[in-house]
Amino acid sequence: MVGSFDPFCPCLYLDGDYVPSAGGERIPVLNPSTLETVGHRTRSTAQEIDQSVAAARRAQKEWAGLDAKSRARHLHQLADRIEKTPFHDVAKLITLEMGKPYPEAEGELANCGPIFRYFAELARHDEGHVAGSTHPHTLEYMRQYPYGVSVHIVPFNFPIILMVWTVAASLAAGNAVLIKPAEATTLSTLKFMKYFSLLPKGLVACLPGDGRVGQQLIEHGGTDVVAFTGGVETGRRVAMSCAAHMKPCVIEAGGSDPLIVSKNCDLDVAVPAAVTAAFHLSGQICVSTERFYVEDAVHDEFVRRFVAATQKLRIGDGLGKNEIGPLVSEAARTRVMELVQQAVTEGATLACGGKIPENCGKGWFYEPTLLTGVTPDMSILKEESFGPVASIIRVQDFEEALCLANDSDFGLGACVFTANLEEAMTAADRLEAGMVWINNPMPDNDALPFGGWKNSGLGRSLGKFGLDSFRQTKMVFMDYKPDVQDWWYPYADDWFYGAKGRQQN
Ligand code: NDP
Repeated sequence: MVGSFDPFCPCLYLDGDYVPSAGGERIPVLNPSTLETVGHRTRSTAQEIDQSVAAARRAQKEWAGLDAKSRARHLHQLADRIEKTPFHDVAKLITLEMGKPYPEAEGELANCGPIFRYFAELARHDEGHVAGSTHPHTLEYMRQYPYGVSVHIVPFNFPIILMVWTVAASLAAGNAVLIKPAEATTLSTLKFMKYFSLLPKGLVACLPGDGRVGQQLIEHGGTDVVAFTGGVETGRRVAMSCAAHMKPCVIEAGGSDPLIVSKNCDLDVAVPAAVTAAFHLSGQICVSTERFYVEDAVHDEFVRRFVAATQKLRIGDGLGKNEIGPLVSEAARTRVMELVQQAVTEGATLACGGKIPENCGKGWFYEPTLLTGVTPDMSILKEESFGPVASIIRVQDFEEALCLANDSDFGLGACVFTANLEEAMTAADRLEAGMVWINNPMPDNDALPFGGWKNSGLGRSLGKFGLDSFRQTKMVFMDYKPDVQDWWYPYADDWFYGAKGRQQN
C-alpha cells in the first residue's frame, strides 16, 4: 500500500511510494485565487534523480519482458482504480494550486482511465508487420520495441491528463516513465501518483522541481526518450538538448489558434462557442482561440453578442460557481496586461474587460477581454497570450479569413464556423494546423493524433502516432533455407566491370 500524501511535507514519488525530499527546500505553493499557502513543494536532488533512473531501468527490464496481454491487464487494472476510486481530493488540489474551476478539474480526471485502456489494447493489437519478401525463402518483418526509460515534462494547465496522454502510451509500449510536473501543479501530480502504486515498483516516478530537473532528466545517461508539453521557447530548448544527446522527443508546444466566423454560420451557435473557445480555463489552453477572423457582413452583430455573452461570465474562485478562475501566477497576469496595453497603444479598441476585476480579492484574476479593430500587423497576433483575451479582426470575405488565419508561425489548432459545405471542406484542407474543428471547437480524440504544425510542435501524442513515439522499430530479415548468395565475396569473375556477364545486364 502506498503511504498517505501530505501537501505540507515536500516529497517525491519513487519506487512505488511517497518519499520525503532529501533536498530540504520548502517552496510555498500559493492558491492563485486567495494567495493562501496550500502546501510546500521541493526540488529533487541529483541523487534522487539517479535513484529514480536506476529503479526505472530495473523495473523496465521486467515490464518489457512481460507479454503484451499481461502488460495490458496491468493498465486496465490501473484504469479500473482511477475510475472506481473517488478522485475529488486530486481535483480539489488542482483547483487550489492553479485555479481551475472545480468541475473542469473533475472532468480532466474522469477522462484519464479510458486513455490507459486505449493504449493497453492498441499496443496489444499493433505489433509490427510482415513485408512482401525481396528474396526467396525469407521472412522479412518489422517489430517495435520500447526505448527504455521515458521522461515526461508536463505543463500546469492540464497537469494530469496531458501527463497521462504520453505516460499511458509509453507504459503500453513497454517503457518505464519519469515525470517532471510543472512547478505550479506539483501537489496534484504527486497526489495522483497513488494510482500508479499497483504497477511494479520503480516503473513510475515523479520528480518535482523546476526546469533544471527537466534538463537533468533529459541529459541523464539512463534516460532514452522525452515527451515535452509546454511553451514554444521551452520546447525549442528541450528539443536542442535532446538533439545533443541523440534522444528522440515529442514536443507539444504552444499556439495562437484562429477561429473564422463565416457570414454563413449560425450566430446562435457560434457566439457561445466563441466565448468558450476564448475563455475556457481563462484562456490557458494550448488550443484556446486567440484570433477571431469575422466576415464584414456579420462582424458587428457577432461582436455585439460576443460582448454581451462575455459580460455574463462569473469571475472568482474555482471552488465557487464561476467560469473564470484566476491566472496561474502574477507573472502570467502581468504579461497578459502588457499585451493588451500594447494592442491598445497600437490602435485596437477594448470592447470589454481589460482590467483586474473588482470584488475578487487579491487573487490573480483578470477580466475576460475583447479587443476589436485588431489588424494583422499588431503584436498581439504574433504571440501566444495564454490568458482571457480575444482579438477580433474584420475581414471582407472567407478567402481573406483563411489567408490571415494561416499567416502565423503557430499551427496548433484552428476553428471555423460555417453552414456552407464548400467553406467547411476548403477550410479543413487549407488551414495550416494539426487539428481543425468545424462548428465545435477544441475536443480531442484518444484515437486520433494531437500535435502542431510549424512552431507548435514536433511529433504527435494520442492515436497510433502517439504510441509509436515511444517505441523504436527493428527490421528482421530471416533466411530459413540458408544458401551461399551470388553477391557474396569473393565475386565470381563475370561480376566485375567489363566481364561478359555484367556487360549483358
Ligand atoms: P512552460 O514551457 O513554461 O513549462 C512546461 C514544462 O517545462 C514545465 O514542467 C516546466 O517546469 C518545464 N521546463 C521549464 N524550463 C525547462 C527547461 N529548460 N528544460 C526542461 N524543462 C523545462 O509551459 P507552461 O507550464 O507555462 O504551460 C503553458 C504552455 O504549454 C503554453 O505555451 C501552452 O500553449 C503549452 N501547451 C501545449 C500543449 C500542446 O498539446 N501542444 C498542451 C498544453 C499546453 P516549471 O514548471 O518549473 O517551469
